[in-house]
Amino acid sequence: MIDKNVSLKQFSNYKIGGNAQYFFEAKTKEELLDCLKEWEELSKSIPEKSKKIFILGGGTNILFADEGFDGLVIKISIKGLRVDEENLIAGAGELVSDVLNFTKENELSGLEWAGGLPGTIGGAVRGNAGAFGGETKDNLFEVESLNIETKEIIKRSNKDCSFSYRSSVFKEKALNEVILFVNFKLVKSNKKAIEDSINEKIEYRKQKHPLEYPNTGSVFKNVSFDLVPDRFREEFLAYVKNDPFPVIPAAKLIFLTDLRGKKIGDVMVSEKHTNFIVNLGNGKSQDVKALINLIKESVKRKYEINLQEEIMYVGGDLNE
Ligand SMILES: Cc1cc2nc3c(=O)[nH]c(=O)nc-3n(C[C@H](O)[C@H](O)[C@H](O)COP(=O)(O)OP(=O)(O)OC[C@H]3O[C@@H](n4cnc5c(N)ncnc54)[C@H](O)[C@@H]3O)c2cc1C
Repeated sequence: MIDKNVSLKQFSNYKIGGNAQYFFEAKTKEELLDCLKEWEELSKSIPEKSKKIFILGGGTNILFADEGFDGLVIKISIKGLRVDEENLIAGAGELVSDVLNFTKENELSGLEWAGGLPGTIGGAVRGNAGAFGGETKDNLFEVESLNIETKEIIKRSNKDCSFSYRSSVFKEKALNEVILFVNFKLVKSNKKAIEDSINEKIEYRKQKHPLEYPNTGSVFKNVSFDLVPDRFREEFLAYVKNDPFPVIPAAKLIFLTDLRGKKIGDVMVSEKHTNFIVNLGNGKSQDVKALINLIKESVKRKYEINLQEEIMYVGGDLNE
């Protein structure tokens, strides 16, 4: 049954957000289809503006509005992990951390770069999440999705997913599709090597990221070095990193505009990692948005660079 007026704060890594007017947690493909059927009926008696659906994974890359979302939020909690020779098939709602534990137990290598990456496998595929030189697309074999309009099940090969930097067909074109299952092609390795490699990344993140506060990861995308105006190129050469192509870390640009530690309301540009805006306890979505706007204006004024959000806005007037 679809629930009403469910707090989104509890599903947000940021611990920010109002209520979803309608909410459903789908633990299987069949539950998802049942929910869509119920929604079709329910939609007949609700205003046009509320006939919208938002698909939620682990809520680690989202800023929910304090005003909430006046439509249906479907949380994808489809689980299941199995191995078929050197392929690993995961339900889209599996946490990346659980998938990594499973690769370790089954001595399958290829996803270690994702050590410490929060969120679900479905969310990682949609945004082609990446870290430490790896990206979700690298070992991806096939994705199964459901078109929520036509109810068609679609299987896409890696190539058909049109992956690019922090993007995929699911983010750009196939907007009506919910990722159900993800199939990775991995290689046999040994448990200890996989475990050590994963733990190294988790340790790095603990040291570098402000995980002691609710946050939504890196707020901005790193900036392709190609987009740096000529007159700043020499100054920035020392900061270039490969991620997976030459970029200037957004954190560096924010640091150089002296916004480290800048607070609005109860949210702050992290002192530990300046591309994180942390919730000090009672953060509001409007304060996060105001701080994001201030950062964008400051970086633009000083370096003529347009920072782009990596996080997404859901609900209220955050997208305006
Ligand atoms: C501390 C921290 C560190 C992070 N580090 C990194 C990093 O190193 N690299 C990186 O790339 N990201 C990073 N992130 C961002 C985030 O973890 C990833 O983008 C993650 O893959 C998002 O997954 P999620 O399940 O939380 O998605 P959500 O935040 O729930 O959703 C993100 C988007 O994916 C869509 N979505 C989710 N599930 C599905 C599905 N099954 N089908 C279709 N669409 C779906 C949602 O509609 C939404 O548009 C970090 C975040 C945090 C909080």
